[in-house]
Amino acid sequence: MTRTRTQVGIVGAGPAGLTLGHLLHLQGIDTVVLEDRSREYVEARVRAGVIEQGIVDLLTAAGAGERLRREGLVHHGIELQFAGERHRIPLSDLADGRTIVIYGQTEVVKDLIALRLESGRPLHFDVDDVSVHDLDTGRPLIRYRHEGRDAEIECDVIAGCDGFHGICRPSVPAGVLSEFSREYPFGWLGILAEVAPSNDELVYAHHERGFALLSLRSPELSRLYVQCRPDEDLAEWPDDRVWEELQLRLGLEGWTLAEGPIVEKGVTGMRSYVCEPMRYGRLFLAGDAAHIVPPTGAKGLNLALHDVQVLAESITHLVETGSTTGLDAYSDTCLRRVWRAEHFSWWMTQMLHRPEEQDAFDLKLQLSQLRYVTSSPAAATALAENYVGLTSL
Ligand SMILES: Cc1cc2nc3c(=O)[nH]c(=O)nc-3n(C[C@H](O)[C@H](O)[C@H](O)COP(=O)(O)OP(=O)(O)OC[C@H]3O[C@@H](n4cnc5c(N)ncnc54)[C@H](O)[C@@H]3O)c2cc1C
Repeated sequence: MTRTRTQVGIVGAGPAGLTLGHLLHLQGIDTVVLEDRSREYVEARVRAGVIEQGIVDLLTAAGAGERLRREGLVHHGIELQFAGERHRIPLSDLADGRTIVIYGQTEVVKDLIALRLESGRPLHFDVDDVSVHDLDTGRPLIRYRHEGRDAEIECDVIAGCDGFHGICRPSVPAGVLSEFSREYPFGWLGILAEVAPSNDELVYAHHERGFALLSLRSPELSRLYVQCRPDEDLAEWPDDRVWEELQLRLGLEGWTLAEGPIVEKGVTGMRSYVCEPMRYGRLFLAGDAAHIVPPTGAKGLNLALHDVQVLAESITHLVETGSTTGLDAYSDTCLRRVWRAEHFSWWMTQMLHRPEEQDAFDLKLQLSQLRYVTSSPAAATALAENYVGLTSL
């Protein structure tokens, strides 16, 4: 067993863990980042792609936004499609000029890994049997196995950035955390296709066959989704069927959806989940380890990075002053934004998706809500300021 010490042990090298490691490195704080997957796997995992202006600013200020600024696509609006018509929500006009940037999570992760390797600070991939101990003491421990050896790290603080299925949240003793959740009776079948996006902005479509989303990753790569069952069998979705369904749900007179080779295909279930507080002793949970939103509001990645921004400031305060005031406020500070995003993501989801057996009354309510947000500046502004990310929370 090798035994080492660090100031902050970080479990998980997703966007949250890598960003936290980088923000703390900029403050001269030692961290060790542990990841149970390989670097190749982590860098290829296709997920989010919509980044709020505040998070673009955070990454840029931290020196992690150079390629994002160069290659990210700035969007000023989104479109909502229903009852055979498309309506534009001019996000920037309604939200004080703020924008969203389209830049794949895979690219954010690659940029952060490159910075970490450049810093020379430890980042271990392919670790096994990670476990956390002594969380209610001032010297919590992380144990793991790496390259055939057992290892133990003594930390001042542990950051649980290991996603929804990680080990940190389940290591908190029973009864400490309160959990709030909602399951949805549908999922998203998403594809990445080598074809130029057929629209300049994202299109969210409400359709009798179910929801569809036209999104993108770059001028050459389209990202598209169709609503499906949460346990949908991908084998039942050959490429032709995916395109056929997208053509039906996104189709509009005078507009063509261009097709191309599908290079990635997957099904994601949809869930809302929050645990409170996002802390136990010296273990702090951040990102998907503490909360999940359905992807309709494009908030998961943004929330994860907001959490670690707050956590990095709180840990820096502890290191500089010895005071735990920041860490003590961490959970409450984050949960204000988390619950706003939970509500927005739930609201977008229930407005746009069609349950398999939909009550006629519910359908009328959905259409009325869609008409309202596309015709009332007040309602459209509420959507816009949530979508680009609220500044005051
Ligand atoms: C299809 C899809 C589309 C999405 N679209 C959007 C979007 O448009 N906008 C948006 O903001 N969000 C979106 N999201 C959500 C977003 O991808 C997540 O919220 C984001 O990945 C959270 O980052 P994280 O670092 O907290 O967790 P993760 O990205 O899950 O990272 C956790 C890391 O911990 C590692 N890990 C797990 N267990 C262990 C262990 N025991 N030991 C060590 N390491 C471990 C994992 O391998 C992983 O690398 C989407 C998600 C999906 C699935």
